[in-house]
Amino acid sequence: MDKLFDSHAHYFDSKFNDLEGGADALLSSAEFQELIGGVVNVGTTYESSLLCIEQAKKYDFMYAAVGIHPEDAQTKCKLTPNEEIARIKALVCDENRRKENKIVAIGEIGFDYYWQPVDKELQREYFEKQMALAAEFGLPVIIHDREAHGDTFELLCRFPSVRGVLHSCSMSSEMIKEVVKRGWFVSFSGTVTFKNASRVREACAAVPLDRILIETDAPYLAPVPHRGKMNNSMYMQNTALAVADVFSLSYDEIVRKTSENARELFGL
Ligand SMILES: [Zn+2]
Repeated sequence: MDKLFDSHAHYFDSKFNDLEGGADALLSSAEFQELIGGVVNVGTTYESSLLCIEQAKKYDFMYAAVGIHPEDAQTKCKLTPNEEIARIKALVCDENRRKENKIVAIGEIGFDYYWQPVDKELQREYFEKQMALAAEFGLPVIIHDREAHGDTFELLCRFPSVRGVLHSCSMSSEMIKEVVKRGWFVSFSGTVTFKNASRVREACAAVPLDRILIETDAPYLAPVPHRGKMNNSMYMQNTALAVADVFSLSYDEIVRKTSENARELFGL
């Protein structure tokens, strides 16, 4: 039987220290490894990107994405945007070193217009420069888009050679169809299981089966019935069941398709 592939998690997050033995206790458990065949551990700053790499090297099933998240660009980055991006570039520019470090994507990058105050110009500078890196080195990207659908779509269209995934997607079905037409993948998190999220399930139904991924965004966004708890990849069974329900397919079929799709996007 196929195993679940978690296309987006943050196992470096200090919230995992609340677990006895930390994230390592979870990731090295037999129960976890029986269910989970792949995890992309996604950085949100240069520093956390290094932690992602370090963790990914410890586990066969884990890969790393490196990049600067729009909110962290505003709140955590101490250097200038050019200096921050230069450090990300140094991680991805050499193919051999990239393989050694198990880096499979640039992310997470994008726009976040939810957390106030928003510095749109700064967010745009980080987003554009990291899209340019992805174009230069032929790497997929992992996109964060919170309440910024129009600006996100417009920016993606300006980098037609870059492909990637819209993580925990909250775009409308109409916009998703446009994004998919341009070769993109779309990923759904625990939000697809929330009772009041019929719009998310409608959007999910608009994604062709060969472009859909699932994820946790752990430690955040735990699916029903774990909502509110600290999320982890094993809870993704509930997310896969909800997606299977949207497509009237079996759980096994959704696990197999989403895992295949993730391996295709990240070149595994
Ligand atoms: Zn995330």
